[in-house]
Order: sequence, then structure tokens, then C-alpha cells
Amino acid sequence: MITLQGVGASAGIAKGKIRFLKDESLSVEKRRVDDAGQEVARFNNARDAVAEKLTKLAKEAASKIGEENALLFEVHNMMLHDSDFTEPIIAIIETENVCAEYAVKTAGYRLAQDFSEMDDDYMKERSADIRDISNRLIEVLLGLSQGLGQGEEAGQPEAALPAAILAARDFAPSETARMDRANVLALISQEGAFNSHTAIFARTMGIPAIVALGDALSPELSGKDAILDGQNGLLYIEPHDALVGELEERAEKDRLEKAALENLRGKPTVAKNGREVKLFANIGSPKDADAALAQDAEGIGLFRSEFLYLGRDDFPDEETQFNSYKEVLCKMAGRQVIIRTLDIGADKQAAYFDLPKEENPALGLRAIRICLSRPDIFKTQLRAIYRASAYGNAAIMFPMINSLGELMQAREIAKSVRYELGEKNIPFQNVPIGIMIETPASAVISDILAEQSDFFSIGTNDLTQYTLAIDRQNASLDPFCDTHHEAILRLIRTTCENAHKAGIWCGICGSLGGDLALTKTFVEMGIDELSVEPSLILKLRSVIAGC
Ligand code: PEP
Ligand code: MG
Repeated sequence: MITLQGVGASAGIAKGKIRFLKDESLSVEKRRVDDAGQEVARFNNARDAVAEKLTKLAKEAASKIGEENALLFEVHNMMLHDSDFTEPIIAIIETENVCAEYAVKTAGYRLAQDFSEMDDDYMKERSADIRDISNRLIEVLLGLSQGLGQGEEAGQPEAALPAAILAARDFAPSETARMDRANVLALISQEGAFNSHTAIFARTMGIPAIVALGDALSPELSGKDAILDGQNGLLYIEPHDALVGELEERAEKDRLEKAALENLRGKPTVAKNGREVKLFANIGSPKDADAALAQDAEGIGLFRSEFLYLGRDDFPDEETQFNSYKEVLCKMAGRQVIIRTLDIGADKQAAYFDLPKEENPALGLRAIRICLSRPDIFKTQLRAIYRASAYGNAAIMFPMINSLGELMQAREIAKSVRYELGEKNIPFQNVPIGIMIETPASAVISDILAEQSDFFSIGTNDLTQYTLAIDRQNASLDPFCDTHHEAILRLIRTTCENAHKAGIWCGICGSLGGDLALTKTFVEMGIDELSVEPSLILKLRSVIAGC
């Protein structure tokens, strides 16, 4: 038996034969052409054909991966017409007098490569999208059919192939979206990331998936029996019977458990002592609100608004932000939506902020510190949030507050925004303003901060990093990172007690909130709200019922 470790991208256990799909890099010849103008016209025609197919694909895919996800193909359509994509292709045709397919492959793959080398994860993940549209163009230019990863091995009709664990260097998003669930036991890839679209689609479609398995996942493994554990990112090739038995037992247990959890939909979350805990969802974009609703979230406990600022060339303007906040508020239809103001800096960098280079960015200019030093940026965001507040049940939450002074300054800026909106007769709600407790300093003085806060939400990801002095980005420190460290638990307890003394509620929106081993502890502490990944909500509801 061989065991390979990758990144668990979609939970679930699957057993079957591995089938490697052909490498998606299509081979093309560098063919000279006499008339470059005619070749550019050929490229434009191919582009129109692909655009038409993408529009069709967006419609087809909606039923499989949901309308929000299917919008990706509209985005592909936009990329197809983007001058950053088309101009280098046309330039190669015109300057080198070569065929369009060669120009697409050269320029398209180069652009995909450039994206894959970017620091920003979101941009990195767009590399697969660029490769995908390049391949679609090449296929049309070469007159090839558009088989899409449903077992297109040489000469074999798709229907004749039994369902398998599909393997590839990486899966193009359009491949994943068009896959017939019945033919796919699981997806495994050498490359990819947890948040690539393929991984997101796999989770949405309930296909177990492991990405980033590396070169050890070689095409020679095609045809071999395997079993995988998508939750833990483990792939076992030619597994022994005992392991298969163990994993199959776990799969059956998971299935029964999931079915039983459906009974909890729409129910309140109540512990044995009668205390109610609100179960909210963490989101990073308006579309994530769909998953929150699908998983029965009672609200949004953390909208990481900085994601609206990432992966762009410039600041999102007030209107763009207003529309995003409004969209989430409308979708959540009266359920509370807590919008965390900009938490850029540290691991979340956007070049156009022009932040100084720092030795220790996690201890540097980030989150509220940026907002207080650049009130113009902060005010634009607050105006957008306040304007959107007229459309639902919003709350504002400031990240990384360390002192009462910072909180009062932030509140003053919010007040000035309300005043300005009032002057212009622009409607808004006087929404609650809470803070994240993410530093030991804020936890220790939470009694003081509570006097000026409408609620607390504990960001345990940063609270852990700053309490234990362990860089949360550095996986090699995992052996030293005891997330259940008594110091962290004491800080959480203190914060919760101080919140209650001041008559405000206290939640947790860091990952520890979803740590089932601590749920009982949190319930006993009196935590009022847990905001977690949408998929954890029903499970947490059942665990809390047993606490
Ligand atoms: C946290 O620090 O726990 C938190 C929720 O914020 P983020 O993970 O976005 O820093
Ligand atoms: Mg944080």
C-alpha cells in the first residue's frame, strides 16, 4: 500500500480505480501563415465560438453547481474578451506571422504562468481559469471536439467507462462543472489549492477531493485501486483490507450522521442547560451567503469584507462595496449580517494600498491601524455599509482593536459618516458596533472595551497567534501550536465574563469556534454565538444539543 498526503479539498470517502485524464496542455504546431490579418480574423471567430459555448455552459452548469458558481463561466467570457488576454495573442500572430493556436498557447499559457506565480492566493487560482479558456480556444482552432474531462481517454466512448477516481495535473473549472456526478467517485490532482474553483465546485457538488498531491500522483497509477479520505487529504493506493473496512465503516457513519442532521434544520440551537447559542456563518463574498443559507445559518457572524479589496488593481469604490453589502443583507432577509471592516495587511496584501515593507507584517500596519491612519479609505467603506444597512439587519465590527482610544477613534469616524449621510438625507440604520477580540491586550481590558461596544466576537486565529507568539502562516510551527492552550481559554473566558457583566453578547468567529472538542467548554463559559464555516452549522447544532 502507498499512502499519499495532499490537501483535503472536499470531505468524503471514495473507493475505486484511479483514472488519469489526459494532460490538458494541448499540443500545437508553430505554423507559419502568409496573411496575419486573416489569422487574426480566424482567432476572432474562434473567440466568438467559445463565447457562445461558455454562455451555454453557464446555463447547463447552473443546475449542477448552483447559479452563483455557474457565474464563473460568465467571468470566463469576460476574460476571453479582456485586452490583457487578447492583445498579446494578436501581437504574436502579427509580429511572428504564426498560426492563432500557437499564439494562444504561447501567450495564454504564459499569462496563466504569470498568475500562478503571484503572491495573492486569489490571483494564483485564476491561473487555472486562464489555461481553461486558452485550451477552449485551441480546441476550436484545431477543430477538436470539446470533451470535458468525463473520461476522454483515447478512443473510449465516455459511457463505456465505469465511474472512477479521476486524476489530473489539475482540473479546469469548466471540466469540474460539467462532470457527471455519476461518473466521478472523487477528484485527485497534483496541483491545486483549497480555494481553487475546482475545489469549491467539488465541495458544492459533494465530490470528495484531494488537491496538491504533487508528482507522487503519477500517471502510472492509472488503473490502480485506491481509497481516499477527502477530509484528511489522504490517498491510499492498493489499500489493505483492514484499512478499506475501517474507512468504509466511517463513510457509512458519516452518511447516517448527515441524514440525521437534516432534522435540525430550522431548529434553534439549545444546550441541555437551556441556553441558546446562535449559529452564524463566516463568509468572504456575497455569493458565500448562499452556502450560509443552505446550511441554515442564523446570520452572518463575520463578513470578511477585505476580500472585496483583494485581487484588484485599485480600491473598490463606494458603489461596488454598497452593492456587495446590500446583496448579502438582502439575501439574509432580516437575519443579522456582521460586516467586519477592512482587515488588510499581514497575510492579506493588496499592492495598491502601497503599504510600507515591514519586517513583521503580522505585528505591523494592518486592520484598524490602516483604517485609522487612512480615514479616507475607512470612511468610504463605512459609508457603503451604512447605506446598505437600510436593506437589512446589519452590524459593524472593527478588527484588531487594542485600546479604548482606538475604539473611540473608530466610533468617531463612524459617527461622522452617519452625520454626513443624515445631512444628505441618505437613509441608513443606526447599526450595532462591535469589536473583534484578537489580541491578548484587548482580552485583558475587555471590561473597559465592553463599555463602548455593542458586542464582542473573538478572533481566535489571531488571538492564538499573538498569545502563543506563533506565526499563523508558518505550518512548520504546528507542533508548537497548542490551540487549546490554557492561556487562550482563559482569555476567552475573561472576555466572555466581561461582556456579560456589561450586558453585551460575546461570540467566537475564529476557527476555534468550530472545534467540536471545545464546544462544551464554550457552552459552559456562556458563549452566545459561534460563527463558523457554513458546512459546520448543523453538526454544531447537534453537538450543542448534547452539551
Ligand atoms: C481571527 O483572527 O480569528 C479572525 C476571525 O480573523 P481573520 O482570520 O480574518 O484574521
Ligand atoms: Mg483576525
